[in-house]
Parts: sequence; structure tokens; C-alpha cells
Amino acid sequence: MRGTGDASALIDLSSDTVTRPTDEMRRVMYAAPVGDEQRGEDPSVRALEEEVAELTGKEAAVFLPSGTMCNIVAFFLHCAPGDEVILHRDSHPAYSENAGPAVHSRVSLHLLDGDRGIFTAEQVVSAVQPRGHQKARSRLVSVENTNNRGGGSVWSVEEIEEVCTAAAAQGLHTHLDGARLLNAVVASGMPAARYCAGFDSIWIDLSKGLGCPIGAVLAGSVAFAAEARWAKHLFGGAMRQAGIVAAAGVYALRHHVERLADDHALARSLADRLADLPGIEIVRPPETNIVQFDVAGTELSGEEFLARAEEQGVRFSLVRGTVVRAVTHLDVAADRLPETASAVRAALAT
Ligand SMILES: *Cc1c(COP(=O)(O)O)cnc(C)c1O
Repeated sequence: MRGTGDASALIDLSSDTVTRPTDEMRRVMYAAPVGDEQRGEDPSVRALEEEVAELTGKEAAVFLPSGTMCNIVAFFLHCAPGDEVILHRDSHPAYSENAGPAVHSRVSLHLLDGDRGIFTAEQVVSAVQPRGHQKARSRLVSVENTNNRGGGSVWSVEEIEEVCTAAAAQGLHTHLDGARLLNAVVASGMPAARYCAGFDSIWIDLSKGLGCPIGAVLAGSVAFAAEARWAKHLFGGAMRQAGIVAAAGVYALRHHVERLADDHALARSLADRLADLPGIEIVRPPETNIVQFDVAGTELSGEEFLARAEEQGVRFSLVRGTVVRAVTHLDVAADRLPETASAVRAALAT
């Protein structure tokens, strides 16, 4: 069990990216067969790509260094300069990728509203630009499941199918940012392939809740994957003996998926504990491993709250204003919950 034992260690709930590879994962990495992946000769990379393709019901997959690069490559392949991507304003490419869509793909973003980072087929249809010499060309719809800034919210398969069907009817390409798709799968009980069926491209992150040190996997048709391999090299993401990290991905898909349910249960318990503290309001009940809570009632600014909590040994991150985020993960054991709550209580009392 990890996250236990050292009572003085920081409880880091700022993100599920802070997980360190477990001893067993490191052993698998150590023993991984490797080759030159740029030439398609790394057996561990190939095994990971096949496993993700199978899991998501796609024909082929490509291992990339990061989730951000999956979004970059997919936008680049689906769009031409001057095109427009339709997506929620709380989606990662819109707020956390350094205007990458503009820089790499020379596209504009058409931002949609909607509770929990979720939007509807009707919104997509009304966002499509009419044809005309003054209009951007609507080209791609991008969905994020779970939605990070929406509080780890889970799209239903029906919501996704409606959006994909409407997009296809408008002649748009479709992309799924599935950084935390497996959290949605575990929370909803829906197979990953059902979530992915309507999309031209999808990806999952290995370095979030799955606990790997590096990497993400982008999947689609055989033709899309071939193009993605080409774009991977174009953007400098082609690697050599990458099997050493891909092996961690294969291991995580076998051993770290079902346990995401533990993270979700811990997030619910954490939300209950935080709700009992003065001045703290849970924004909405957590659906997966992300808890959003508002500290406005404590009369501290978001930054002040974060600094005080860290002095007491708990690290959170800021969503916006006074809304704070706690993310549960592999390296936070359930037995640290009482300590987390008392640290926050102490932070409020200082
Ligand atoms: C983390 C994240 C990304 C980027 O993934 P990296 O592997 O950190 O580059 C993209 N989309 C969402 C929803 C994320 O949470």
C-alpha cells in the first residue's frame, strides 16, 4: 500500500499526475523488451498500442509522449488552417495548452457553454458556421470525458452518441480527449469501446489516474493511425527504446484500472468530510476522482487557502477564484483521510 506509513509526508491532492510508479511497475519496466520504436521495432510499444486499440474498439493506436501531443496531432490531422474546432470552454485545449491549436494547427476555437463541461447535439448544430466567404470552416468537434474542469464529470453514452451523430450529419470530424476516459468507464460501467465508437480519434492518458510516469495513446482507423505516426515524427515525438515506459502502460491497463473505483470512493468520502468544515461548500458531488469545493465562506482567497493548507501538509490546486480542486489517486491511501480533514481544519483556524 502506498501513501501510508510516512505520516509526515505531504498529502498531494493537487493532481493525479503526481503518482510515482509502484515498485511492481518499475520491475516490469526494468524487464521490458525494447527496440527502436521510430522504426516500429519496439515490442513493448507495439503491445501497448495493440492493447489500447482493442480496449477502445479502434483499428490501430499510436503511443505518444503526452496527452497534450495527442490533442495536437489529432487537431492537426483533422483540420486545415482557418478551420474551427467546436468544444467546451472548459476543455483542456481551450485553457491549458498554450494556444496550441492556434500555433500548431492554425485553427480557431468555437467555445460552447454547458454545465459540468458537457454540451448537447443542438449546441453543436447551432455552432456550425454557415457557409460563406467570411466564415471559418467548422471542421471538428472535440469532447472531453471525463471533463476535468467540469469536476471529473462523466458523459453518458447517449449524450456522446447524440453529439457524434449530429457532428457526422454536419460533415464534422470527431475527437475524444479521454485523458480520464477510464475513470468514466469505471464510474459508469460502460465499456470504453462504447464511449469511443462514434469518434474518428480518441486517446487515453497513462500518466493520470493509471499511475504511469509518461505517455498517452491515440487511436483511430488504420489510416488515421498511419497519419498520426507521421505527425508524431513531425512534432518531434517519435522516440527510440520507448518500450521502457510503454511497458508501464501495459502493466497499468491490467492492474490499475479497476482500482480507480477506490479513488472515486475516496473522493466521495473526502467531499463528505470537507462539507462538514466551516465555510467550505462542495460545488457538486464528485462523479469520479475530482472534488471541487468553494472556500468563499472562509473569507480566504483561493491562493491563501492553498498556501495555508500546504503549511498543514496538504496540497490542493485552484480551479478558478475560490474554487479549489482535490484529486484522489494511487498515492493517496484512504487512511490519510482523517489527517487531510484535520489539516484543512487547522488551515482554517490559523
Ligand atoms: C492532463 C490532460 C491533458 C494533457 O495530458 P498530458 O499528458 O498532461 O499532456 C489533456 N486533456 C485533459 C482533459 C487532461 O486532464
